[in-house]
Amino acid sequence: MIKDYQSQKELRDRYDFCIIGAGPAGITLALRLAGSGRRVLLIEGGGHEYSQPSQTLYNCTSTGMNVYAEETRLRFLGGTSNHWAGRCRPFEKSDFDVAPPVNVPGWPIAFSEIERYLPAAMAIVDLPTDSGFKAINASMDGNDFVADRFLLSPPTRFAQKYAKDLQETEGLDVFINCNCVDLEFDDKTGRITSVVVSDYARHRERVTAKQFILATGAIENARQLMNSESLATAGVVSKDGFVGRCFMEHLNLDLGTFILGEGQSPEPRQYFTTDAFVAQFQSGKGNVSAALLAQVQAYGRTAAIKDFLENLACDVGLAHKIDFITHFNCPGDGVITTLIEQFPNRNSRLTLLEERDALGMRKVNINWELVPEDRHTIKSIGLEVAKCFAETGLGFVKLDEYVYDVAVPLKVAPHAHHMGTTRMASTPESGVVDENCKVFGTDNLYVAGSSVFATAGASNPTMPLIQLALRLADHLNHQAGPASRYS
Ligand SMILES: Cc1cc2nc3c(=O)[nH]c(=O)nc-3n(C[C@H](O)[C@H](O)[C@H](O)COP(=O)(O)OP(=O)(O)OC[C@H]3O[C@@H](n4cnc5c(N)ncnc54)[C@H](O)[C@@H]3O)c2cc1C
Repeated sequence: MIKDYQSQKELRDRYDFCIIGAGPAGITLALRLAGSGRRVLLIEGGGHEYSQPSQTLYNCTSTGMNVYAEETRLRFLGGTSNHWAGRCRPFEKSDFDVAPPVNVPGWPIAFSEIERYLPAAMAIVDLPTDSGFKAINASMDGNDFVADRFLLSPPTRFAQKYAKDLQETEGLDVFINCNCVDLEFDDKTGRITSVVVSDYARHRERVTAKQFILATGAIENARQLMNSESLATAGVVSKDGFVGRCFMEHLNLDLGTFILGEGQSPEPRQYFTTDAFVAQFQSGKGNVSAALLAQVQAYGRTAAIKDFLENLACDVGLAHKIDFITHFNCPGDGVITTLIEQFPNRNSRLTLLEERDALGMRKVNINWELVPEDRHTIKSIGLEVAKCFAETGLGFVKLDEYVYDVAVPLKVAPHAHHMGTTRMASTPESGVVDENCKVFGTDNLYVAGSSVFATAGASNPTMPLIQLALRLADHLNHQAGPASRYS
């Protein structure tokens, strides 16, 4: 049943699980646990639709590279799945087997731990489970790159698709407009005793449960932990610890332009680095997309001006400089774009600001920062792509200067994939959650979502985070023993 906490103060007591945040991670977990006979509370800060009072609570500042964190998250039922694009690509075995070449460890669990949840996660995002991840083309297959494989979810909007289940699943209480504003920790027992929730009039109340799971997205998961004074007093969250650190994104940059080779198909292409490439260059992984500049529709006076500018710019070789404004289409010209792995980096991190939001929680600054090894990844992928294009006759590539000269400032944009702020590790010295997603130093606080990613790979994060949420549901169910709701 879905209730509006703004007008219905009907929270019950004695929940088995309290899940905070109703995006893909929280909804997946809630339905699994309630479906297994548990008493589950799912609290969602936003309402059924976008609203300014809720969205404003995501306001934050940014240093380093701009991560556009205010624009790339949605704070209402269904979370950011309300505008995700649906691109899905699973993690690979090597993501879990190979440690990153930086001073932070990789995943502490084996790939098989999430691989077995792939079919179920595919079904959740409406991908046909028998379709596999198909290659688009193979013309550059070799040691360095393979044709990339990904599938497109419709894209699944979690609030719509699961509306009936959220409304009708027995044992599940969903409260919207119900914001978590504190996690209360008892140092003596090592347990979270309650979460404090608030409506938009700042009416507050404590909620108790046996286990608590944070599923508010990678930025808010860390922010919630950092905002809890009792966790800080107990040393669970500390200045030098990993909470908020190792914030990762996928790197979205133009490698350069290309002129299509004679007789080559103008179809868009996608390639992915092979494990052999990553081992040889000690680099991160990357997806490379090559596409001819799209022809834009233009009418009347706009068409005439566009024609004039297009001829002029192509003649003097300026088309690339202004293609983002006009989308010129010089014959055969294309762009090469990327989704590249960022390595974990302690200094790429969230920190608390003194300023508070309307509900009294301290805001955060996000400092998104790369390490030299990331520039090395970009350079290696750029140079090898250019070489492979030439060798296979696919085209002639002109790389952007910042790709091969690491002294030139990088022009990079995020992909809206926020990861790593509560990373999984085998010890608290190198992470925030253990192999079962439980926060180190606590007995009943868990985290769901891409904040637990130890490394980012170059795969879109949502399907893998759903795999991890399904694994967490199994763990919590197993740990809780036989369900008691019907007894
Ligand atoms: C434009 C865009 C395109 C994208 N495309 C893709 C793609 O193609 N493929 C892909 O894999 N990923 C994509 N993503 C990323 C994807 O949307 C996220 O990975 C996914 O939504 C994360 O799920 P989540 O449940 O962890 O967090 P979210 O979806 O962010 O959900 C968190 C929920 O917690 C709630 N919440 C927050 N704070 C509180 C609080 N204090 N109390 C209670 N509730 C709270 C929020 O309202 C929200 O409902 C895209 C993102 C954007 C912005």
